[in-house]
Amino acid sequence: MRQSPVISGHGLHTGAPSWVHLHPAEGGVRFRRGRQEIPASLEFVADTKRSTTLACGGYQVLTVEHLLAALHVRGWWRGLVIEVSADEVPILDGSAAPWLGLIDALGAPPPPPQGFVVSAPFTLQQGRTRCRVLPGEQRLCAEIDFDHPAIGRQRWCGPAEAFETLLPARTFGFLSELEGLRGAGLATAASLENAIVYGSDGPLTPLRVADEPVRHKALDALGDFYLLGRPLLGGLEVVRGSHGAHVHFARTMVREAMLLSLLPAAAGESGELP
Ligand SMILES: [Zn+2]
Repeated sequence: MRQSPVISGHGLHTGAPSWVHLHPAEGGVRFRRGRQEIPASLEFVADTKRSTTLACGGYQVLTVEHLLAALHVRGWWRGLVIEVSADEVPILDGSAAPWLGLIDALGAPPPPPQGFVVSAPFTLQQGRTRCRVLPGEQRLCAEIDFDHPAIGRQRWCGPAEAFETLLPARTFGFLSELEGLRGAGLATAASLENAIVYGSDGPLTPLRVADEPVRHKALDALGDFYLLGRPLLGGLEVVRGSHGAHVHFARTMVREAMLLSLLPAAAGESGELP
């Protein structure tokens, strides 16, 4: 019998040691904590402060987005139990690349569900944050604008075939914010081994690519929009996004589509946005 793959490390925010075991299984993609299953679905998002947290039945899993981005890229949309030993998925090197080995050890994914078809533009703007979808080819654009001389405004756009190139981009933060985050019980385990840390002049360690920050934000969007439970067939643009903005937009988009009766009432196999 093939040993199902496992990976271990520490949670970025909780600092707790944890391991993840992937088990192919009938049904949707879900996390498992002990006996409790938590579907990888928008409905179970409980928190979006600095990471995306899923919760159900008194259990939670923090920082699911990088693992979900890797599943997104590999086309694993069902037939998987993600067993996690603690409250948070390990941060590993701060990117999604280490998950690929674990996922690829499973073999080929089951056929994907029918995608969520975007048939007309839909936009939500909140202050300087904008999310929108457009009909057409599967495509992602992310834009960031940070008031830091070493980051500033960056934009990344690419088709689905280029999504895999986003996975090595690491999460990033600012030395000036670290103390405040730790005071709030966040980023407990942040270090130069699992994040790009920016001092006042620039990153304290070399970047993997010049636009690594925007690539990581695009990766986060892939992880959060995976919670739709099916591929988004259209173009997605996220300007100054955040986990909260991604989840709010995805939920609103699904609700609008359902209101217009373009989604089967019982969350069937296809969804379409007007
Ligand atoms: Zn991230």
